[in-house]
Amino acid sequence: MNNRLYGKLIFELSHEGRKGYSLPRNPFPQYELPDELRRKEEAQLPECDELTVVRHYTNLSQNNFGVDNGFYPLGSCTMKYNPKINEEIAALPQFQNLHPLQPSYTVKGAKAVVAMLERSLSALTGLAHFTFKPYAGAHGELTGLMVIDNYHRSRGDKQRRKVIVPDSAHGTNPASAAVCGLEILEVKSTAEGLVDLADLEQLVSQEGSNVAAMMMTNPNTLGLFERQIPEIAQLIHGCGGLMYYDGANLNPMLGACRPGDMGFDVMHINLHKTFSTPHGGGGPGSGPVGVREGLQQYFPMVSPYQGNFTVMLRALAYILTLGRDQIKEVGPLATLNANYIKESLKDVYELPIDGLCCHEFVFDGLKDKSTGVTTMDVAKRLLDYGYHAPTIYFPLLFHESLMVEPTENESLETLDGFISVMRRIAEEAQHDPELLKTAPHSTPIGRVDDVLAAKHPVVTYRQLVNDEN
Ligand SMILES: *Cc1c(COP(=O)(O)O)cnc(C)c1O
Repeated sequence: MNNRLYGKLIFELSHEGRKGYSLPRNPFPQYELPDELRRKEEAQLPECDELTVVRHYTNLSQNNFGVDNGFYPLGSCTMKYNPKINEEIAALPQFQNLHPLQPSYTVKGAKAVVAMLERSLSALTGLAHFTFKPYAGAHGELTGLMVIDNYHRSRGDKQRRKVIVPDSAHGTNPASAAVCGLEILEVKSTAEGLVDLADLEQLVSQEGSNVAAMMMTNPNTLGLFERQIPEIAQLIHGCGGLMYYDGANLNPMLGACRPGDMGFDVMHINLHKTFSTPHGGGGPGSGPVGVREGLQQYFPMVSPYQGNFTVMLRALAYILTLGRDQIKEVGPLATLNANYIKESLKDVYELPIDGLCCHEFVFDGLKDKSTGVTTMDVAKRLLDYGYHAPTIYFPLLFHESLMVEPTENESLETLDGFISVMRRIAEEAQHDPELLKTAPHSTPIGRVDDVLAAKHPVVTYRQLVNDEN
């Protein structure tokens, strides 16, 4: 890597008097701003010529790694397939320039998009009504739990304040329940990685009349299909609770089975994961919530207007591009790819739960633990080989979780390339563990101190100068 390009801030490239622009002469007579509106001191802005500015930001942009740069095996929260045609459609000025306060009769096309998307999601999930207001998956979870809470309260069932969440659940599940003011009851997983029905029965027998809902992800965050949903739904409905489905990663289910048919009452979908839309660094997202008939009157107001429209637009484009028949191939292809990688690596990486996985799977670090090489080291070393790291240390069930999700449309060559690099890293761990412990070696920034970066982030230039003094 060329070090010249890194490490300098735009402020450090500044030279007094340099300009990259020229403004037309101001034709207006002088106007003095009122004193109270004026700065007390000069704004500290960098002064650079045009080429310096362009090169600085172009070089910075090339330090990014995304799905367009290379393989991105992140599991669970992954960015899945983002067809380029969706970007073109979302960029059409007729959609792009809509204003949320436009009169209703001028946005009939946009309303038709929303109505069509709702019908498509209903067909795919078996749930009758959707709200598109939530801006993210976690926002959808909160919205869905508010629906459930409103439902119980409307029946005078005010003591139902507990939500059952499996120990393998995505962290947002218990967090959303807590934000909604509900308490969390954790249900254990079996050695097979599925919800422990005996443990659940015991919870229900003790707490049944206080249970507001059970939240589930299926396939769960270990990538395993929960086979006892009908029994679980019967238990929860039997005690008066509702079933919540976390559909952040709905791709393996598309056209194969529907949460509504399995007994779920409320769910959210991450349009930005399952139905494309590049996202990262917190957005943009859309977490529509679907409910079964009779629950739609409990939708709360969680945002103004209609939600994140261009994310919805991309979702509809994705669904219509594939169509009723091809959408059924998404799940099986993602499942095939995940199982291919898993089977090709399980002799060198520890597979705690063997068997067929769905769209993703979890290793518990390297098989040979004697080298001291951790999942963190493997993930960092992958960066040297030009791959994005997989999801690491999640789910929390294993010490060295390393979670891989290849998505449906990766080529065999890409999967083979990843497999051979993962095998090479396992070999390096045998012969040169230090190489892994100090990785990455070829990125602009090497191994950072995660704790320090999280606890004492230095995010302003001024602070950097102060710290140095
Ligand atoms: C990503 C994810 C969420 C949260 O979605 P956000 O849009 O990041 O808020 C919830 N559950 C699961 C299983 C997820 O993968």
